[in-house]
Amino acid sequence: MLLELQGMDMQIRELAKTLAGLPVRKEIEDLEATLRALRASLADANARLARCRKEQKEVEWSLKETAAAIEAISRKLYGGVVTNPREIEGMRGKLKMLEAGKAKLEDRIIAYMEESEALEAQAKSTGEEIDQGASNLERLKSARDTRVSEIESEISGITERREALAAKVSGALLLKYEQLVKDKGGVAVAPVQGGICGGCHVVLPASLASRARPNDQVVRCESCGRILCWVG
Ligand SMILES: [Zn+2]
Repeated sequence: MLLELQGMDMQIRELAKTLAGLPVRKEIEDLEATLRALRASLADANARLARCRKEQKEVEWSLKETAAAIEAISRKLYGGVVTNPREIEGMRGKLKMLEAGKAKLEDRIIAYMEESEALEAQAKSTGEEIDQGASNLERLKSARDTRVSEIESEISGITERREALAAKVSGALLLKYEQLVKDKGGVAVAPVQGGICGGCHVVLPASLASRARPNDQVVRCESCGRILCWVG
């Protein structure tokens, strides 16, 4: 009975280990880390996009002002109001300067538009990656939940049978068994085959072997202390 009990305890421990180390858990963790990085990158792209658009607006205002100044000077210059050649020369110089400034502002606006376009594309593709990743994550989590509940129900089935069996073992022996499980790394009961202890592989004294057959009394290996169980 103890050997059978030990077999069940080993199965339960093995299943608990499987449960804790399910590979899908690592996959989920990795994907969650990837998604966090992608969301940070999306937030960054959106912040840069907002800044870019704001700066473009400011440049557009400057462009409007410059265009208005050019129009005002042109009207004066070509309206025949100013006749002084020196004054005309001065206004032409100013106009040239303003035109050059206007061209520069226009170039900057084009650069901002290009940057915005690139950032929009980046945000779009990152958003798609996030959607894809999030749906993969859902799939992985549901696979994990299924596997976890399968293993848990297997464990509870074995535990139930284990408890039923343990109820038939005397309390003192069960305590001894449980103490030995702790001390001996899980193997408290050693099968005896061919006069050898299955726990420490020491040849048992012939007197012990003959004395202990049938398994109606508790005999422990003198070498490792495990409870001996004659099998076969
Ligand atoms: Zn032994």
